[in-house]
Amino acid sequence: MSSSSSNPTPPLELRNYRLSEQLHQEELATVYRANHLTLDRPVQMHLLRRHDWISVSRFQLAARLAAHVSHPNVVPVIDAGHDETLGDYLVTPQLDAQPLSTLLAAGPLPAMLAIRVTTQLAAALDYLHSQQVFHRDVQPANLLVGEEGVTYLANLSLAASPDTPDLSSIDEADYLTPYSAPEQKLAQGEAGAALDIYSLGAVVYHMLSGEVPPAPGGDLPSLARRDPGLAPADRVVARMLAPQPGMRFPTAGAAVAALRQALRDQIDHATTDMEESRWEASAEWLENPFETALSATLDDRFRDFVGRSRTRADELHRRDVIRRQLNRWSHGGFFRRRALGQLITPEQIVSYNVYFYELRTLYETRTPPETRTRPQQPEDRDALQRPPDLWAVMLPDGDNFVSVEERTEPLPNSIQMENCSECRGNKYITCKDCQGTGLVSQVRKVSNPDLTTGKEAVPGFCPTCRGSLRQQCPRCKGAGGVVEEQFFRWSRRAKIFENTDDVDDLPALALKKRRQDVFSGPIDPYEGRWHSVAPVAELLRTAIQEAGKDTRIIAAQLHIQGVPITEMDVLLDEKPHRLYLVGFDKQLTGDWSLLNSERVVLAVLVALLALLLILALVLS
Ligand SMILES: [Zn+2]
Ligand SMILES: [Zn+2]
Repeated sequence: MSSSSSNPTPPLELRNYRLSEQLHQEELATVYRANHLTLDRPVQMHLLRRHDWISVSRFQLAARLAAHVSHPNVVPVIDAGHDETLGDYLVTPQLDAQPLSTLLAAGPLPAMLAIRVTTQLAAALDYLHSQQVFHRDVQPANLLVGEEGVTYLANLSLAASPDTPDLSSIDEADYLTPYSAPEQKLAQGEAGAALDIYSLGAVVYHMLSGEVPPAPGGDLPSLARRDPGLAPADRVVARMLAPQPGMRFPTAGAAVAALRQALRDQIDHATTDMEESRWEASAEWLENPFETALSATLDDRFRDFVGRSRTRADELHRRDVIRRQLNRWSHGGFFRRRALGQLITPEQIVSYNVYFYELRTLYETRTPPETRTRPQQPEDRDALQRPPDLWAVMLPDGDNFVSVEERTEPLPNSIQMENCSECRGNKYITCKDCQGTGLVSQVRKVSNPDLTTGKEAVPGFCPTCRGSLRQQCPRCKGAGGVVEEQFFRWSRRAKIFENTDDVDDLPALALKKRRQDVFSGPIDPYEGRWHSVAPVAELLRTAIQEAGKDTRIIAAQLHIQGVPITEMDVLLDEKPHRLYLVGFDKQLTGDWSLLNSERVVLAVLVALLALLLILALVLS
């Protein structure tokens, strides 16, 4: 292929990244392993390898769209741009995943894994459709599957959105795959969810049967050929692959729900309730604004946390699971209300993540330069250049976020040398104590003949010059010259700011106990994106206000902890109550209604009785 000659030879640097080995080639781009230099974080660098205008506009479209969408199952784009020598590039995180096409080369997937991939892919598609983005190129090569079936949809380069350039002039035949819907056209205004739902069906068929689906309208061999247990899914896949768009499922979520229903036996057989993702109508997942704004720019640990929280919510958002969870809780303690799961009626279930934010800030203060005169030293030279800007002076690196007491530092290139005005460069001056006579009068005690004592002055040798009649010049300390130089005072002060999402009505103690690290890293407190989320913006505003004319923030580190919570409005004893399940261990918190009142009363009675008994014994 002609592109091989233009492949750069690693190692190579592009902006803030160092490229290392070439990983693979995609339709539009060559992919390299790379490292973000300042953040020291592994990433993947995609360099556009074709230079016709269609490829360039598709590549730019993919970058632009990905920057505007944010979903745990869509590969995020961290950075994109154009480099003078290397051309267009985009940067994605290093995902521990491989293309579904690679997995399928080895045969069909286990049914459970196929269902897991389908569920996540459908979530990604419904999300994109809600943003008026239609992918139009859903196929195994554009799906990445990681450990435990975590799935990412990649490559938005053929997507239709209000933003898409007119691609209608390109030859469609080049872009149609066995997974494309029969009505697919690249002209604008014709895209809809049905296109992607057809492709979803084609991918599902391939995963379950191990075979590429036949051309649209052709006879679809039954999945039962591979496994009779899959037969109920035939009807669902056929509806996804219906030649008329209007016959297909209205949403990807509806298609997945039907698939899961059809394969319920397989699901029940393979797993516990963990995999179920069909939510009760009354259950809701609330995305934290922090997740919406920043998920694409944060690292894998954060995405993993959000992914696990959503799985947890999937699992909890069913009445029967909630009941089971509460019954399990009931068994866990003597004073807990029996069979709580049977007593409650869930009305509304909401899950979301709560975050705790900590900003470590290091301030440095530099006072305006002052002038001082000091004796000349052998290494002093007259300045040949102008002094640098005060803040350009390099100061010693400290341990990060450690305060430093005030110190002084000379301003480089600010020295002016001159002869000492006191000794005129002679280094010595006439001894000031003896005025150059070598003698001073000394006072000594004398005893008078009448036994009184008195004092008398007698001449003695001058102790300062010890007879040499001169002394070292005090102004230049004997150097013969002085320098006038500028210096400034500097100090550093570390400070920690904290903030949380609004937790006023929530079980704060349980939340704090179960929070876990989701992000930790250096940030630029003046960078716009950090100001798009209220609690972080508040922290930064407070931190920035403490800086000023002479004081700057020289380092800032953001540390975020998160914890998932599920809020349940339930009827218990015909009264409304609010219960919470906190953290991944789903700790139940609530009010007194959760206690077993008979047993509490019994325990109090027993305790009183014991007390009376002791009193009786003592008194007798
Ligand atoms: Zn002097
Ligand atoms: Zn003297």
